[in-house]
Amino acid sequence: MVGLGILKGLRETARNLIGSFYQKERLTTVQYPEEKIAPKENNRNFPFLVFDKDPEANLRCVSCKICEKECPPQCIYIVQKRNEKGKAVKYPEVFDIDVSVCMSCQICVEVCPFDAIKMDQEFALSREDRFEDLLFDRVRLSKSNEYYHQIHPTEAGEVDGRLKEQRKQAEAKAEAKKQAAEKAAA
Ligand code: SF4
Ligand code: SF4
Repeated sequence: MVGLGILKGLRETARNLIGSFYQKERLTTVQYPEEKIAPKENNRNFPFLVFDKDPEANLRCVSCKICEKECPPQCIYIVQKRNEKGKAVKYPEVFDIDVSVCMSCQICVEVCPFDAIKMDQEFALSREDRFEDLLFDRVRLSKSNEYYHQIHPTEAGEVDGRLKEQRKQAEAKAEAKKQAAEKAAA
């Protein structure tokens, strides 16, 4: 019958309208900001940097700058750290992301070979100053692996497994190298 679909749709709307006074699950909206809906696991917003124990010493980032090169709108800025002798070390002295420019494409995450940068779910980021306040520095970007597990538990578990395997392989390789050196010296 012509118009049957429309009638069915209106019936559903009426059920939700009346039902929402009695059943909370029929409400599709909440009274934000007093009430918040937890984001879904795969929800993503802007990137953050993962650290394992200490945010000052254990960032996974080795300052390789691949993400900086690949970021389409060029909103990542990295300066590699240098030691007292002026030699470059594998750590970022400066790591800034201009989140007012970031388009949440996740390319930085995909190209990072060290699982050092991941997508956050923080979305309430409105600020009075569109420039300074939305330029996130290394300290602001650093978040723990525990936090990563809270927001993306499945993905973080996979990453942990992969990193563990890589560590095991590196240790086995180092041990084999050591034994070969000892054998050659004997
Ligand atoms: S976040 Fe990853 S890709 Fe970017 S500089 Fe650090 S290690 Fe390299
Ligand atoms: S999510 Fe995309 S736009 Fe944002 S910093 Fe990463 S690569 Fe750049």
